[in-house]
Formats: sequence, structure tokens, C-alpha cells
Amino acid sequence: MSQHVRILVIEDEAPIRRFLRASLEAQQHRLTEATTGQEGLSLAATDAPDLILLDLGLPDIEGLDVLRRLREFSAVPIIILSARGKERDKIDALDAGADDYLTKPFNVGELSARIRVALRHAARPADKPTLRVETGDLVIDLENRQVFLAEGEVRLTPNEYRILAVLAKYAGKVVTQNQMMTEVWGSIKPGQEHHVRVYMHQLRQKLEAEPARPRYLITEPWVGYRLKVEE
Ligand code: CA
Repeated sequence: MSQHVRILVIEDEAPIRRFLRASLEAQQHRLTEATTGQEGLSLAATDAPDLILLDLGLPDIEGLDVLRRLREFSAVPIIILSARGKERDKIDALDAGADDYLTKPFNVGELSARIRVALRHAARPADKPTLRVETGDLVIDLENRQVFLAEGEVRLTPNEYRILAVLAKYAGKVVTQNQMMTEVWGSIKPGQEHHVRVYMHQLRQKLEAEPARPRYLITEPWVGYRLKVEE
């Protein structure tokens, strides 16, 4: 990652802003802070940051509305900062165009990893699709529709492969249930959440050394799934 990534923090809680400033400036990032949604929107427009960290609970404008207004003029990566237990808000934010979320309290390691993934996805040209994803022993070759572990090629059913391919396309990022169903089936129908769960279970049986404690195919409780990328 290039140095001096410019990050806009939109967050009304001073202790969290202090934590973010200390953590991110230690990594050579440059920080701008806004304490209200209005201030955040105007700074996003004037400063054109490389990434935005957005708190959903702001004093003036609902965080989700801030997000929607940001998306009207900017494709900048946005990571949501959300309180534990606000799963519905996280899902709405992801479906409204947020790139990822962090649940408070979060640690520096999580924060840095999410920022790296979001910037990496943003840097990839939209017309240049992901062709290959490697994490640990797992290789997903999207060009040839093949999946490998250290032991060799793994045979997947067409639906298992489609689910895995969506996770690979967004490697490192969370994919919501709605996003998964839309990408795989083109629409959302009742009962499909169950199918996704079943396919995820089958994928873990085939790809994980310990399916009950997955290394790659992570469930984000109440939100969706993530293909964990080991750096
Ligand atoms: Ca807040």
C-alpha cells in the first residue's frame, strides 16, 4: 500500500476518534475528522479522501443517510463503525454501498486489515475481474472454474462453486445474504438463505480442515459471509 492514505473519520465519540488517530497516524495515514454527518459530507466532497470510516450513530443525520448521500457523488471505500448488536444496521449499510464494517470495540489489527482490503478492492479497475484468489492452502481459479487445496483439485457442485466464486470475487470483504442471493440467483426469494447455509456447510466440509472452526469460510453472524484472506 502506498504511504499517506488520506482517511476521513466521521464519528462523534471523542475517545474513538482519539483511538483512530493514534492507530492510523502510527501507520503513516493522514487523518481528517468530522464529528457530524453534515461536516463529514462537506469534507468528503472538498477533500476527496481515499477512504472513509463512518459511524452510524451521528448526532445530526442518520449514518445510513450520510452513506446514501456519499454514494450519490463518491465511490470512495467506506467502512462502517457500528455498535455490537446492530446487525440490521450493518446489513442495511452494506446493501446501501458500504464496503465493510467494524464492530465496536475493535482492535488495531482488525482495523488495518479491513482498510487494506477495502483499498485493494478500490484500486482494482472495474473492467478487470478477479481471476485467481489464493489464501493459505486454498486456490480459487475463477478463470478456469477450478478450486485447489494443498492435496490437489477439489470437486465442487455447480452451486457450491457459484457461492465460493462470489466470496472470491469479494475476497476479504463481507458479502451479505442479500448480496449473495442476488449474485448467485439474480433475485431474492424466500428460502434461499437456507440454501446458502447448506452450501456453505458443504463447502466447509470440502475445503476446511476443521469445518466447525473454519479458517477461510467465515460466517459474519446475522450479516453474511466472508472469505478470509491470509496475508
Ligand atoms: Ca456515535
